[in-house]
Amino acid sequence: MAKKKRLGEFALIRRYFAPLAAGAPGALGLTDDAALIRARKGRELVVTTDALVAGVHFPMNETPDSVAQRALGVNLSDLAAMGAKPLVYTLAIVLPKRCDAGWVGRFATALGRVQKAHGIHLIGGDTVATKGPLTISITAIGDVGRGTALRRGGAKAGDAIYVSGTIGDAALGLKAVKGGLRGLSARQRKALIDRYRRPRPRVRLGLALVGLARAAIDVSDGLAADLGHIAETSGLAAEIDAARVPLSAAARAALAHDPKLITLVLGGGDDYEIAFTAPPGASARVTTLARRLKLPLTRIGWMKKGKIGAVRIKDRQGRALRVDRGGYQHF
Ligand code: ADP
Ligand code: MG
Repeated sequence: MAKKKRLGEFALIRRYFAPLAAGAPGALGLTDDAALIRARKGRELVVTTDALVAGVHFPMNETPDSVAQRALGVNLSDLAAMGAKPLVYTLAIVLPKRCDAGWVGRFATALGRVQKAHGIHLIGGDTVATKGPLTISITAIGDVGRGTALRRGGAKAGDAIYVSGTIGDAALGLKAVKGGLRGLSARQRKALIDRYRRPRPRVRLGLALVGLARAAIDVSDGLAADLGHIAETSGLAAEIDAARVPLSAAARAALAHDPKLITLVLGGGDDYEIAFTAPPGASARVTTLARRLKLPLTRIGWMKKGKIGAVRIKDRQGRALRVDRGGYQHF
């Protein structure tokens, strides 16, 4: 077995994390006590944090590449759902002994790839060791024109409900990882697993929805649960047609084999798509936007007056479909 490289905390930071901070003057080269962020005139900062624990949020033996993409991706997805432009992020990493310098190097390389794709930089963090599981907490900071952030609570009765991309791939992908999915080609399995392992936050969509959407959320707990959050905060109910929910070819194949998987598709989560509402008169603008972004934006239902927070899902025959919308509850 190859001998594991041992590096001290400061050497780790200098070697692997400081290069990720090179493009951000406010990071001060990761050599000071804290970082500086210059606030732009007429804008406000948008801040979000997500903690990921091995064995809870991703499999224990997940690759550093996938952990990095996931950790940064879920935070950027939160910024996207607020309509914010991502700027910088901080990284607290709690490393078990088995994550040697090689692991940290691959993790940093992957972070570098994702941050480059979004034009953002690392500006600070913390690096500590643990006897427990690998834990990563990223705080992402973006900005938005003052008073223009997309909120969950802005939906009005009669608004159309839209969702981006396709839904259910990641939940099906996780099921495939665990070996519980049948009737798919190797390519289809791979496509679903990739959707689970590499969330691609819809940042460009979020930015374009400012001034167009009345309410927005990123789909992380499951479509049913997250529409419930919009409904709850907006003081309304949501009604969607299961048959209108956009599915990938791989998801359609999985459903053809086992139609009961529809509840996993609608309830499973980890999609990191954006669900939003817009007034009926905005439908032409939504169509134009979908074409410009080359991203499907599908109308799946309507916001209604009714039991606050309720999400009614109708199947093809118009019958109510029951979907567990618990999401993942930690406590
Ligand atoms: P402190 O003792 O004040 O917590 P540290 O010695 O932990 O400072 O960190 C030194 C510098 O390195 C700080 O600027 C901190 O933001 C940065 N840093 C530490 N760990 C990381 C990391 N994982 N990613 C980015 N920056 C980090
Ligand atoms: Mg520290």
